[in-house]
Amino acid sequence: MPELPEVETVRRTLNMLITGKKIDRVTVNLPRILQKPDDPQLFAARLEGRTFQSVERRGKFLRLVMDGLVLVSHLRMEGRYGLFDKDTPTEIHTHVIFHFTDGTELRYKDVRQFGTMHLFLPNEELQAPPLNKLGLEPLEEGFTLESFRRALGKRSTKIKPLLLNQEIVVGLGNIYVDEALHMAGIHPETSANELKRKEQELLHLAIVKTLSAAVEAGGSSIKSYVNGQGEMGFFQHSLRAYGRTGEPCLTCGSLIEKSVVGGRGTHICPKCQKAPRNVTKGVMTSTQRNNAVKRRLDGLEQ
Ligand SMILES: [Zn+2]
Repeated sequence: MPELPEVETVRRTLNMLITGKKIDRVTVNLPRILQKPDDPQLFAARLEGRTFQSVERRGKFLRLVMDGLVLVSHLRMEGRYGLFDKDTPTEIHTHVIFHFTDGTELRYKDVRQFGTMHLFLPNEELQAPPLNKLGLEPLEEGFTLESFRRALGKRSTKIKPLLLNQEIVVGLGNIYVDEALHMAGIHPETSANELKRKEQELLHLAIVKTLSAAVEAGGSSIKSYVNGQGEMGFFQHSLRAYGRTGEPCLTCGSLIEKSVVGGRGTHICPKCQKAPRNVTKGVMTSTQRNNAVKRRLDGLEQ
């Protein structure tokens, strides 16, 4: 699933590609993508004649701003946009097409069909679901250490699921949560209210540093993610924890371990990220770890 750096890369690309383009008509091939309004004819009718003014982002949501209307779009697992000439054959799994007056088309393709689109009047979108309950934007000036501490409050939830739920801070998914917690040296099962002030500070810094570096690199190309122009990001080469099970920690040399936290595969360095006292389950046993290393070696030899 694209996280903040990937969505930001898509945003920048789309902003460049579609700003100023006027919608002639809209084709909806898969109505289930539409959430508001969910009627494809109504959805298309509201968009006709509108011009894209800018593409913005809130958390992992894109906000496509038009004259008098805002389209809120979430790519979920594999949604992607592409700009094509109208004569280019349409690929399978293309669910929504914005036909422009200049003969080009913005096409939304989504193999998994989990993406969503909502239409709002300008500024209404921030007051209603799905954007109204979102937490702090980590790359904006308002994300200060104090605001982060206030948002964490006295929450007793484990820090990894808490960061994933978007209520404290937005934009982090499984990849960048693992990266930020590794950089901060915090175990993902630590309760938020047990973080020491110094740890809160390290985590705040790690979130900003991890996401900024990933945005700079154009996001990570994990599985099939590509940005709005069909280009891949390069941050996957800089990952220090995520996806490195059985490989040495780049900080201390211990082998990165994989466990499950809040139902999500989680990568930690057992030395840099000490487990809180009451957590022993979930971490890989040495046998599992050895098997993981063996699988990796086998994979390399094939
Ligand atoms: Zn380490």
